[in-house]
Amino acid sequence: MSFASSSHAYPNPSFDISDRKVAYFSMEIALSKSLPTYSGGLGMLAGDTLRSAADTGVSMVAISLVHRRGYFEQHLDAAGQQTESDVVWSPESTLPSANQTITLRMQNRDITLCAWRFDVVGVTGHVIPVFLLDADVDGNDPWDQHLTDHLYGGDTYYRLCQETILGLGGIHLLHALGCQPEVCHMNEGHAALLTIGLLEARLAPSPIYAATDADADAIKQRCVFTTHTPVPAGHDKFGIDQMIQILGHERSSAIERFNCIHNGLLNMTYLALRFSRYVNGVAMLHGKVSQQMFPEYQVHAITNGVHAATWLAQPFQQLFDKEIPSWRHDNQYFRSVYGIEASIIDATHAVSKQRLFDTVRQRTGLQFDPDILTLGFARRVATYKRANLVLYSPERLIAIAERLGGLQILMAGKSHPADNAGKSIIRGIFTAAAKLEHSKLRVLYLENYDWELGEQLTNGVDVWLNTPLRPYEASGTSGMKAALNGVPSLSIMDGWWVEGCAENITGWCIENTEDEVAQAEYLYDKLENAVAPLYRDKVLWAEMRRHCIAMNGTFFNTHRMLGQYVSNAYFPASASVAASDQIVTSEVAQAVLV
Ligand SMILES: *Cc1c(COP(=O)(O)O)cnc(C)c1O
Repeated sequence: MSFASSSHAYPNPSFDISDRKVAYFSMEIALSKSLPTYSGGLGMLAGDTLRSAADTGVSMVAISLVHRRGYFEQHLDAAGQQTESDVVWSPESTLPSANQTITLRMQNRDITLCAWRFDVVGVTGHVIPVFLLDADVDGNDPWDQHLTDHLYGGDTYYRLCQETILGLGGIHLLHALGCQPEVCHMNEGHAALLTIGLLEARLAPSPIYAATDADADAIKQRCVFTTHTPVPAGHDKFGIDQMIQILGHERSSAIERFNCIHNGLLNMTYLALRFSRYVNGVAMLHGKVSQQMFPEYQVHAITNGVHAATWLAQPFQQLFDKEIPSWRHDNQYFRSVYGIEASIIDATHAVSKQRLFDTVRQRTGLQFDPDILTLGFARRVATYKRANLVLYSPERLIAIAERLGGLQILMAGKSHPADNAGKSIIRGIFTAAAKLEHSKLRVLYLENYDWELGEQLTNGVDVWLNTPLRPYEASGTSGMKAALNGVPSLSIMDGWWVEGCAENITGWCIENTEDEVAQAEYLYDKLENAVAPLYRDKVLWAEMRRHCIAMNGTFFNTHRMLGQYVSNAYFPASASVAASDQIVTSEVAQAVLV
């Protein structure tokens, strides 16, 4: 197996992590293009966070699971029917061992966990070690050996076992390795059981049911929680019976006693909320929405970002290394892209566009035209993301394409294997695309959306399209990758776009409406009357590309985001600092929430 990413090395087998201050826990982390340890946006964000931590020298260590069979590889037949296959990899022939095992009591039996270490290496050589927990250990119950095989696979029982390994196993591993982190960051509720791990370790050798409110508060002072979606399916819930079966009576009674049972269920979001000193959403609007979902807790907001060096196309990297070399450790220097001719930015983007079309031809045999306006839409296929909205009215779309002298749309996205609604959306797009066969319009859905394809699509198309049902797109990060590469967005005012949209400068907003027909119409109107005229003006379009980088690339990156986590969440200078970033209620937010 070869590594496409350079942020990996085989350094010293014994690595001292005892001085690490922040422990970052995530069920998925996109570490390398060749490792299937992520599913989508959450894992990308986690990986980008660690890459920025490495570049900017943050004292951090990370925990995840090994996912020996990955998420899945997507196959689509001619009708758009999705099938899946495992992505099997072998950590023993890929990564150094952590040289540490721990034993955890769960399901009323012992399980031994080992771990593999992946080093994320920053621009100045600072390393963030990531430990991937692995249950495939000789002597474990044969069923248990498969508990770290499938990311988001199996039923709720399997999932709770995985979350127990992540949270409780992760804390015990860190302690075994000599690390007592000052701050534990839960990247989504999947990791919430780390709080119980901390409580258990604090009380040991006394049993956890001896915990007092003072003990619980001490844990709370050390924990930070980021919630990532208002969609109910994103908030894991488990039955009380399952909780007791897997965690046992002692931990379960502690969870109950500290009021972490919500509506009769073990709710990972409430567990995380209960034990966190700082809670945040992933964009300003999402913070506001989350505040309304959890009125009894104070919810802040830190807007997501992307790791610039990961998502910038090579030609841009070379240009910026020459013109603004400090960008690699400090993304604020992107602002000085205004010192580079807009036409050079435009020409640099054209290289990415051609590369994307070369990839399309290699994969499908189809030839796309680099002179024609090309829209991109690629995301996890969840119903609220409405991948099919742009195809709502074929006649209207064809009319627009004719007036424009041509229009190309590239799409991609995986549906979770158990999400039949998502799968039927993909089939629907294939059906619609087949009917749209027209000399001026091309719609193509590419197979197996992943890191590589995400990179090529976001940096190669002309406009990045985003049509979620507001306010369900908590942040979205693909549009940020596009912006960094000089690609404007055409998007509903949701997630990050509320903060990133300067009309006709960094892109366009699609007015929001509840009515689906009207929503598609608004999209077509913008495309025809705002996007198309600007595209015809090569000078203005090139300037727009530059605005995207200067205004949005400078802000929507994980260097800035992580800086905010450090100063507002991990190590606030005082309580007043932590309180001062409370959500400002914008009119947009008000409009959504009434
Ligand atoms: C960036 C990325 C995502 C997340 O993008 P969204 O805009 O949040 O949908 C998902 N999957 C892949 C492969 C990505 O590169």
